[in-house]
Amino acid sequence: MRQDLIDAFSKIVGAEHVLTGKEKLLDYADAATPGSSRIPDAIIEPANTAEVSQVLALANAEKISVFPRGYGSSVYKAGISASGGVILLLKRMNSILEIDTANLAATIEPGVLIADLDREVHKSGLMFPPDPGTLSTATIGGLVSQNATSMRSLKYGSTKHYVMGLEIVLADGRILNTGGKNVKDVAGYDLTKLMTGSEGSLGVFTKIIVKLMPAPETVKCLLATFDSLEKASKTVETILGDKIVPSALELFDNITLRAIGSELPAGLSPDAAAALLIEIDGIQTVVDSNTDKTTAILQSHGAAKILTAQTDEEINALWSARRAILPSLSKLNSAVLIADAIVPRSKTSNMLTAIASIAAKNNTTIAVFGHIGDGILHPAIVYNPADKNELSQAANSINAMSALALTLGGKFSSSYQKDTSGPAEMYAKQAIKLSLDPNNILNPITRIKEG
Ligand SMILES: Cc1cc2nc3c(=O)[nH]c(=O)nc-3n(C[C@H](O)[C@H](O)[C@H](O)COP(=O)(O)OP(=O)(O)OC[C@H]3O[C@@H](n4cnc5c(N)ncnc54)[C@H](O)[C@@H]3O)c2cc1C
Repeated sequence: MRQDLIDAFSKIVGAEHVLTGKEKLLDYADAATPGSSRIPDAIIEPANTAEVSQVLALANAEKISVFPRGYGSSVYKAGISASGGVILLLKRMNSILEIDTANLAATIEPGVLIADLDREVHKSGLMFPPDPGTLSTATIGGLVSQNATSMRSLKYGSTKHYVMGLEIVLADGRILNTGGKNVKDVAGYDLTKLMTGSEGSLGVFTKIIVKLMPAPETVKCLLATFDSLEKASKTVETILGDKIVPSALELFDNITLRAIGSELPAGLSPDAAAALLIEIDGIQTVVDSNTDKTTAILQSHGAAKILTAQTDEEINALWSARRAILPSLSKLNSAVLIADAIVPRSKTSNMLTAIASIAAKNNTTIAVFGHIGDGILHPAIVYNPADKNELSQAANSINAMSALALTLGGKFSSSYQKDTSGPAEMYAKQAIKLSLDPNNILNPITRIKEG
C-alpha cells in the first residue's frame, strides 16, 4: 500500500494504531483457504465511531478493501483478497456503555467479548443468552455479523432475537442508526434484521443495543453416554416430544469423545459411541421435575452412564468438555474443516447415518458434534490440506454432505463452499450489496460475490 495512504490512516487513528510490520500482518493472514498465503497490507485499530467513519470514507475513495475483524475466532473467516487491503480491528472499541435494567437492554461497543458482557449483566440478575461456544474469544460485533446460533438456541433463539438496534458505519463512511430500545421500532424495511448476519459485507457495527433476559433461578446439567448414535438421536426426539425444552441439548460422537479424551469428566468413557449434554434451566420446581423426567428418558433409551451436575463447579466441568471440542479436534491432524449441517429435527438421525457412510466412502475422518436439539450438526473433517488426496476426499465429502442436507430439507454451509442461493436470491443479495457498497470494499470476497 502507498505510504501516503498509510500516513493518512495514521492521521485518523494515530500511527501506533496502524500496524504494518510483516510479523504482525502474518498473524492476520487468510486462514480460510487451505494453502493460502494472502496477507493484509495493514491493520487499523480505530477507537470510536468517528474514526471508523473516516477510515471507511478514505478506503472507499481509494477503493481499498476493508475486512472488519473482532476476535478472529470465526470458522468462516472472511478471506483476504489477492490485492491486499486492510483489517479493521475493532478490539479497542470494547466498552459496555449502558446496562438498562428497567428496559432489559444493554448498549455496547462491537469489541466487547461475550463473556465480559454476560459476567457484567449477571451482577444485575440478568443474562445475555447467545453462547456460541467461544464466549471468551467472540466479540458481540462478530456474533451479530454472523447471527451466531448458540448452545442455548433451543430455548432462547439465535443472536438475531437479541439485537434491538445498531449503529452502523456504511462503506462510504455514513453513519446509520437502526432500531432502538422500543420493542417495536420499525415500519417498512427492518434494517436491523438486514444487517444482522451480513458478515461484515454491508457495514461496520460500532454500537449494538442488545436485549437481556432475567437469569434463571437454577440450572442443572446431565451428560449421558450411549452405545449407538441412533439411541442418542432417538433420545433427543423423545425429550422434545415430551414437551421438555432444555436450554441446551448437545451431541458428541465417538471421534469427538476420543479427541477430548482426558478432558472428559471423570467416569465418562471416550469409547462410547455418542454422548448428550443436556442443560435444564428455570425455576427450581420445574427444573427438578424436568431433570427427573429427562433422566428417566435417558435410562429407558439405554444410556450407559449418566452424570448429573448441579453446583457451578460440576456444571462447568461438563461444559468444559463441550468447549474443548475444537481445540481437541485440531490436535488430530493439521486442519479441521467445520461445516453447519442444519436439518429438520426429525431428520437428524438420517443425517448422522448418512454422514458416517460418506466418511467411509471417501476414507475421511468426520467428527460430528453440535446443537442436536435444534437440528444443527457440525460435521468436522479432520485432514491435511497439503496432501492432495486428503484435500480432494475432504471436498468430495463436503459436496456429498451438502447435497444430502438439501435432500433432507435442510441447509449446509462451510468455508469451503460457494453460496448455494438460487438465482433470484443471489440477485437480491447482490442488489443489496452493490447498493450499499458500490465499490465492493467491505469483505469483498464473501460468499455473496463468489456466487
Ligand atoms: C469452537 C467454536 C465454536 C463455535 N460454535 C458456534 C456455534 O455453535 N454457533 C455459531 O453460530 N457459531 C459458532 N462459532 C462461530 C462463532 O460464531 C464465531 O467464532 C464468533 O461469533 C465470531 O466472533 P469474532 O469476534 O471472533 O468475529 P470475527 O471472526 O473477527 O469476525 C466474524 C465475521 O464478522 C465480521 N465482523 C466482526 N466484527 C464486525 C463488526 N463490528 N461489524 C461488522 N462486521 C464484523 C467479520 O468481518 C467476519 O465476517 C464457533 C466458533 C468456534 C471457534
